[in-house]
Amino acid sequence: MDEIRLETIQTNVVSAYRKAQQDFLKKSNNKRLNTWHVSDFVSECIRKSYYSKLHPEKFSPEKQSLFWFGHIVHEHTPLSKINELTMCYDIEKDKALTPDEVLEMPLDDLGTIITGTLDDLMKIGDKFVIADKKTYSGSSYYKKTSPDYSYDLQVNIYRVLLKETYGIDAEFGCLLYLDKMNNLDPTPIAFELKPIDETKEKMRYILSELRKGQTPEPNVCWLCNGKNKKGQIYCSYVDLCKQDGGRTE
Ligand code: SF4
Repeated sequence: MDEIRLETIQTNVVSAYRKAQQDFLKKSNNKRLNTWHVSDFVSECIRKSYYSKLHPEKFSPEKQSLFWFGHIVHEHTPLSKINELTMCYDIEKDKALTPDEVLEMPLDDLGTIITGTLDDLMKIGDKFVIADKKTYSGSSYYKKTSPDYSYDLQVNIYRVLLKETYGIDAEFGCLLYLDKMNNLDPTPIAFELKPIDETKEKMRYILSELRKGQTPEPNVCWLCNGKNKKGQIYCSYVDLCKQDGGRTE
């Protein structure tokens, strides 16, 4: 019988695991439309979103695992019959579109369209609630108590898209934070959503910043100043930002 090294077995098993993750993600991302996505609009620093479009980051194995884990959680925990609802909306024309219509459109016409997929739409009492699951690394001593800025804005944008595409007005959002450090322990944070016109105005502003062809103003914040729980830098464009005159010290 041929000899086989234990390391060879381990390397092969890990490669198979990575490939399984890759295949799963490929299948899930197939339907991604070539429009703006809500995730492009929700960073606390618009300049960072602008850079990420110009210079997309490489997809590292660590990120792959993170995405895979998020997809698994979402796919296997629907909270209502209406879940994973994809909505498309033309910000400039103030007009809803179906994903099929968007697929048929020429690339040049997609620059003002945003796509978003909400996790779950629930009806509680007589109110519609947009629920969104978020995994995070907490622990027994750290629990979420308020919505993060970007998730708050994300759910508010979903409210706009939902009203325009399906005529349903969800007045409330609820983030369901799931703690990866504590068996996905759930912490729900419900909040009232902002008026639709207010969010539409914000979306128009962000779109204009992303499309004006000039680097947007920097917003030095927890993403790049190290003032966060882990003391980490979460923006990979710090050097570019400095070159462009951003204050990142
Ligand atoms: S370094 Fe800071 S200010 Fe500059 S793009 Fe990144 S997050 Fe924005």
